[in-house]
Amino acid sequence: MDHKTILVTQSSMPSIEEYFEEIRSIWETKWLTNMGSKHTLLQKELKEYLGVDYIELMVNGHMSIELGLQVCGFPSDAEIITTPFTFASTTHAIARNGLKPVFCDVEPETYTIDADKIAERITEKTVAIMPVHVYGNVCDVEKLEKIATANNLMLLYDAAHTFGETYKGRGIGSFGDMSFFSFHATKVFNTIEGGAVCFKEEKYKEKLYDIKNFGIRGPEIVDALGGNAKMNEFSAAMGICNLRHINDEIAKREKVVRRYDHNLSGVKGLRINKRQKDVRSNYAYYPVLFDKAEFGLSRDEIHEELVNNNIISRKYFYPLTSSFNCYKWEYDINETPIAKSVSNSVLSLPLYADLSLEDVDRICEVILNRK
Ligand SMILES: *Cc1c(COP(=O)(O)O)cnc(C)c1O
Repeated sequence: MDHKTILVTQSSMPSIEEYFEEIRSIWETKWLTNMGSKHTLLQKELKEYLGVDYIELMVNGHMSIELGLQVCGFPSDAEIITTPFTFASTTHAIARNGLKPVFCDVEPETYTIDADKIAERITEKTVAIMPVHVYGNVCDVEKLEKIATANNLMLLYDAAHTFGETYKGRGIGSFGDMSFFSFHATKVFNTIEGGAVCFKEEKYKEKLYDIKNFGIRGPEIVDALGGNAKMNEFSAAMGICNLRHINDEIAKREKVVRRYDHNLSGVKGLRINKRQKDVRSNYAYYPVLFDKAEFGLSRDEIHEELVNNNIISRKYFYPLTSSFNCYKWEYDINETPIAKSVSNSVLSLPLYADLSLEDVDRICEVILNRK
């Protein structure tokens, strides 16, 4: 039997009527961008939903990281300790600021930075730690806070995967000095393209505003050397609509995840993501690790078998950022052996709010070879 293609993700969208209703006023005001009423409202709503002290909306997640790093004002040869098990954006944002990424290995269970291996990488040039909450798995925020404080380092989280999550009841974006969110179309919450910097200290508010809007303070006043990274009104309107449904969307994702767990837990040679204590999850991704020796098939073979059945999974994250052509001359992936091994064996299975449980079963049947 021919099956329809199942993609790895599908963007969450409000009904077309709801979006029309939200953007109707834009035809009256003709105010399309430059911090209009949609931008103002979304920023206020997100500050509340995320439980953060300050937030500045941005054009996308990557520019949130890049500009967030920029306003910290680090010296140009400074080093940032981070991990190679992430999306290109994290490492690029560091390098594009003229800073040096120093790669630390990850924990085998959560795939987030191994806090115990950070100290040995600190030099006199280290200025910050940039961990990533991979797949929505929350980093060891308590240990990281201690290390950052003890060594006088800034703690800057790539929180692109953790929209809406809490740790011990506290919004995940409120940890560290800054947290960067992505509202890209493929993320749990989207504004089509978009992102935000969440931060603790008020002094960054003006700096971030300046840097996203040319440093313009008034019709004839330009105070800073800013660029342009503003979120437009149509994106903000999409965010306002999507935020109304976010809890339902996450609940639907949870159902999908539970079905996967039910079908795949306990299978020899397969490792699924563990639930974390004290974390309210957003069920962003469904990563599975394949151990060929035990399972019989490798990650790559499963990936291909799924393609043959019109199911698109993603080798996410593979390859490690430290092995990209633009970095590989400077780094050795064997220095982060756990990241290397996870990257070589992980497959992110299709997951989105409207993925049917029948489709989840079909995906699992292909994987378990019972099709
Ligand atoms: C999506 C993502 C980004 C970049 O966000 P964009 O909105 O696509 O620019 C950064 N880091 C991680 C871990 C991501 O998944």
